[in-house]
Amino acid sequence: MALPILVYHHIASVEDHTPFRSLFVHPKRFKDQMKWLKRLGYKGLSMRDAIPYMTGKQTGKVVVITFDDGFVNVLENAAPVLAEYGFTATNYFVAGQIGGGNVWDRSIGIPNTACMSKSQMREWMSLGHEVGAHTLDHVNLNETSDEEAFRQISGSKISLENLLGLEVPHFCYPYGANKPIHREMVRKAGFRNAVTTVPGRSKPGDDPFGLPRIYIRRNHSIPEFLYRVKYR
Ligand SMILES: [Zn+2]
Repeated sequence: MALPILVYHHIASVEDHTPFRSLFVHPKRFKDQMKWLKRLGYKGLSMRDAIPYMTGKQTGKVVVITFDDGFVNVLENAAPVLAEYGFTATNYFVAGQIGGGNVWDRSIGIPNTACMSKSQMREWMSLGHEVGAHTLDHVNLNETSDEEAFRQISGSKISLENLLGLEVPHFCYPYGANKPIHREMVRKAGFRNAVTTVPGRSKPGDDPFGLPRIYIRRNHSIPEFLYRVKYR
């Protein structure tokens, strides 16, 4: 079964002329999107909860909901909406910025935004959501030495697992950047799958360490959103 894996970053309003403002989906728009999924009979699930559907053990109308970077605005603005519709989601955290911020975005002018602290991550998990890993420092693996790339991948798993005391089985490549050697590193580090930014729905037979996703941007109308869920 082909599954759409949605990718969001920020669920928050944003000022005009902010660089990369397409990454900010307004909370009202997000709520409308979830409402439409529910209305059309979809279940919104975290990567963890969607695995039985990905492996064919279960069937149903499922959309995987993922967020990159672990921002507090997702806990504040998306979690109440997900709760309202009974959906779960995965957020991929930058292990070196727990309680910090998006320092990797500053050189390109994206506004400073807080990343969840340990207690906020615990709150995120207590609501039924999943914590995934997104390297230690949000590095572009394609521009990193092999030794450092493995440290970033494996280190993020170990660090988050030590912090939370549970397995962190799912990984996300920062900027979607990866080569075959990185997919092998992710597997060796003990992760079970990894998502990219290659557009498309996830199909049986896809490389589990190179899953495609569907970008949801600020300006997507409801028809555009539903088109992307169904046909991309
Ligand atoms: Zn990211």
